[in-house]
Amino acid sequence: MTREHLIKPVLDHHYPTIQYGKGVFLYDDQGKAYIDASSGAVTAGIGHGVQEIIDAMLEQAGKVSFVYRSQFTSEPAEKLAKKLSDLAPGQDYWAFFVNSGSEATETAMKIAIQHWQEKGRQGKNKVISRRMSYHGITMGALSMSGHVLRRRRFIPLLEDFPVVVPPYCYRCPLNKTFPDCKLACADDMETAIKRIGAEHIAAFIAEPIIGAAGGAIVPPEGYYKRIKEICDRNEILFIADEVMTGIARTGAMFGMQHYGVEPDLIALGKGMSAGYTPMAAALVKDHVMEPILKGSKSIMSGHTYSANPQSAAVSLAVLAYIEEHQLVRAAELKGSYLLGQMRQMADQIEIVGDVRGQGLLLAMEFVSNRTNKLPFPSELGITSRIIEKSFQKGLLVYPASGAVEGVGDAIIVAPPFVITEEEMDQLVRILDESIREVMAQVT
Ligand code: PLP
Repeated sequence: MTREHLIKPVLDHHYPTIQYGKGVFLYDDQGKAYIDASSGAVTAGIGHGVQEIIDAMLEQAGKVSFVYRSQFTSEPAEKLAKKLSDLAPGQDYWAFFVNSGSEATETAMKIAIQHWQEKGRQGKNKVISRRMSYHGITMGALSMSGHVLRRRRFIPLLEDFPVVVPPYCYRCPLNKTFPDCKLACADDMETAIKRIGAEHIAAFIAEPIIGAAGGAIVPPEGYYKRIKEICDRNEILFIADEVMTGIARTGAMFGMQHYGVEPDLIALGKGMSAGYTPMAAALVKDHVMEPILKGSKSIMSGHTYSANPQSAAVSLAVLAYIEEHQLVRAAELKGSYLLGQMRQMADQIEIVGDVRGQGLLLAMEFVSNRTNKLPFPSELGITSRIIEKSFQKGLLVYPASGAVEGVGDAIIVAPPFVITEEEMDQLVRILDESIREVMAQVT
């Protein structure tokens, strides 16, 4: 046997070789079909192999694929920045283009810190995040993330940023119940600010709906309004990490639009280019840019591929496709159908503790006992077993476990917005079979 050279996620695991993709389906080189019910890593929102995107990519490549942002601007990058600002909650944003969600959150963090520096507030350089969160894999982004598994090896190298409790009503970290709790989880921010001192805090970062660190956890009503009020009162910038929730995924163009809150900064990635090319962005409100425009006039960050014209053209084509095919509305309607079907299916399956989510960002959490919500022991690897079983049967779902000690197992179901009702029924049938087979192994 010849030796391998490509580093894959699990080095002794066999990964099939992809041949091509069309719509919600992926096909490997053995001809096996998979329903892409996770849109890869919640990325391929408009589905695979869309001709309009390929055409836009070729057209831009025919002009120029790459320019360095310190030498030229480009029409696609300028247009994309304006388009995103028009679509974002409250509008009036600037865009800083990067290549991954991690770079987007880390850039947002740096801009927030620079904003305060240019106002003469040098001490405001910590970012508060939530205990259950994932904001990316690079050191700055990981410093803001509460994902135990991904942090563990690097803890000595990470910034010791403060964390507050997440709005996780299924397992309330404060043992309270909504609405009697009066949003005590949001008030935990207030407590943390008093402890640390607002003069040390640049920003608060949160995913509108928690993704990989818990599985489509939707906050209780009023949570973000309260959070934003606390941030504003304490002069703390609010960064919405919309890397997973942004660009139609939750049945709104931006997840934060469900909660009527205008973030000061927004991180975007994944669905922005729907996986056709790497593209991500930090969007920055006018008032955050203002001291920088008056001061140093330059944001101290950037990458060789920032504002890449090829990727910007692709991203513009993806946004046009979403508008033309009304995919924001499609994500909302199809999401409520799929959530209903998943709930109906889960009713009959003892190990499903919760089915939740918004639009086409849905999740199931698994428990060994529904009444007391006892998680399965992590050694059983329930999430991996369900993902593996579904994979064998030609269904791709995404893990959302291992983020926090004692929280247990969950999977994310987030198909492309172009999925049909028949395909959703097929998805639910395979998932039902897979979960039942795993349940038979472990109970
Ligand atoms: N933020 C959120 C909410 C994410 O879900 C992810 C990736 O899963 C990231 C940031 C990091 O994005 P990337 O993997 O593109 O670096």
